[in-house]
Amino acid sequence: MKMVMILSTVGPFMKMVNNMIKCTNCNNTETYVKLYKCTYPVKGIPIEVESNRRFCKKCNNLVFDEVLDNETLLKAFKIYSQKYGIDPGKIIELRKNLGLSQSLFSKIIGCARKTLVSYEKGTSIPNDNFQIILKMLLNDPSTINNLILANEENFNESERKIIKNKIGNSSSIDFFNLIFKNNDSLTEFNGYTKVNIEKVEEMIYVLSDTEISKTKLLKEMFYSDFLFYRDTGKSITGLEYIKLQHGPVPDKFSFLIDFCYSENVIDYKVNLYKDREYNAITSKELKVTKLSNEELEIINKVKKYFKNYTAEEIADYSHKEKAYINPKYKERISYDYAFDIDLK
Ligand SMILES: [Zn+2]
Repeated sequence: MKMVMILSTVGPFMKMVNNMIKCTNCNNTETYVKLYKCTYPVKGIPIEVESNRRFCKKCNNLVFDEVLDNETLLKAFKIYSQKYGIDPGKIIELRKNLGLSQSLFSKIIGCARKTLVSYEKGTSIPNDNFQIILKMLLNDPSTINNLILANEENFNESERKIIKNKIGNSSSIDFFNLIFKNNDSLTEFNGYTKVNIEKVEEMIYVLSDTEISKTKLLKEMFYSDFLFYRDTGKSITGLEYIKLQHGPVPDKFSFLIDFCYSENVIDYKVNLYKDREYNAITSKELKVTKLSNEELEIINKVKKYFKNYTAEEIADYSHKEKAYINPKYKERISYDYAFDIDLK
């Protein structure tokens, strides 16, 4: 009590005195802290958080505590971002992979530097517009070229130079390497194989030598990689697969398809009857030189097996795999589920 009186005469500490912890219910100042579960709405979605909160010793009412309550809110933001939004760590990783400073990256995506800092720290959540921009960049970093074009007049001479050096001369192969550069370690998720850009191209090439729907192509990639792993303990492409609504698909598949398109491996044909569906077909003679005979054999076996399956039928078929049932939505799929695949 005495201490508070002394402090109250000193300017900078006034706030502390004003914020003195006190129960609003019974005015008691004796409190305690305990773990407490509560639900916070973040962007309209209820998020359950367990955190340390302060309570009144007398009436057990929840007592306002600026520090603890802020920590709780940050925790709720973090849970929200992991579940529904963008992991702040991924934003930092993307920016660093592109070799850009916070001030330049924020200019490119069109927000204030302060805003980007708060996204990266996780103290605020990107609004819908920036969620779309950031997700687009995370899926395909080469789309940064469009943003640069769109914001061109906002950069000064030295910024233009930096952009040109860091990004201007990048080819689609550079972007491919950039997006997959963190997949260097050999794990159960890439089938203990380093991602191989040429094999990815060749697999997509072989699978789309007759017109094939996107859904079917992605499933046949999954079966090819997983069956090869079942037989040899290694995947063909080194790609990671994730569980999406319609079945297991290669992670960042839209980037992969776009990449093959920009490298002239395949052509798109828009499917007018189905939303978000399109067909792929090989567009040039590609000499298959990187895939081994054993790898080609598996790919052709998968192709033959599903020859008469429609996109829906192959999606249904894949939904019966443990590789699809066991992982959670959007989670990476361990290649060890390959041993449960029953495909003759
Ligand atoms: Zn109280």
